[in-house]
Amino acid sequence: MGRFSTLLWDVDGTLLDFLYSQRIALRRCFAQFGRDVTDEMIRRYSQINDRYWKRLELGEITRQELFTGRFLTFFEEYDVRGIDAEAFSGAYQEALGQVYCYIDNSLEICRSLRAEVRQYVVTNGAVSTQTNKLKLSGLYDVMDGVFISDEIGASKPQRGFFDYCLERVEEKDRGKILIVGDSLTSDIKGGAQAGIATCWFRPLGTAGGAEYAPDYEIESLGQIFDILEI
Ligand SMILES: [Mg+2]
Repeated sequence: MGRFSTLLWDVDGTLLDFLYSQRIALRRCFAQFGRDVTDEMIRRYSQINDRYWKRLELGEITRQELFTGRFLTFFEEYDVRGIDAEAFSGAYQEALGQVYCYIDNSLEICRSLRAEVRQYVVTNGAVSTQTNKLKLSGLYDVMDGVFISDEIGASKPQRGFFDYCLERVEEKDRGKILIVGDSLTSDIKGGAQAGIATCWFRPLGTAGGAEYAPDYEIESLGQIFDILEI
């Protein structure tokens, strides 16, 4: 038995390449709505989206405001007219759940960890989008449980989110639970507040981090085996 019995995995940017899904889903939706989108626009959308998620983490806006508001801001900036932001947001959420790309060999890693630890997904996002993506990718079936913010009514890093998950995982000793995620402001901050160990997934070249002090840092998912001492 290693140091930890339980892993809480972030999904987007950790097990699955979110930027890839975002790019493909945006292209599909713009095509569906009869418009063109450039790579530059996609990069800009990504910044706008990040800003909205930060505001949600700070409790400044609701999830519904995030889903539609990011497209209202984006369309306004590029003077895109005649597309209903709410309809576009719905199409986008659906498209997002249909494309995935593994980071490192995440599915194989989670599969081989099954015999060693319990694993749960902890993700901020829409229930149908995240569930579809997890099922399509095969990750759903290797998990012992899946926790999605929309279902819980609270998001990482809020205490409500972590309380909900920690009440439902088998392991009751928080010292034996490790969260692995790419976001300092949601995964690492939230995990630290909840009193569990934290591992920052920080692919080479990722900047920042002085504000938060994760217990571990990894640059590739395979390094998780060293931390688990297996
Ligand atoms: Mg993430």
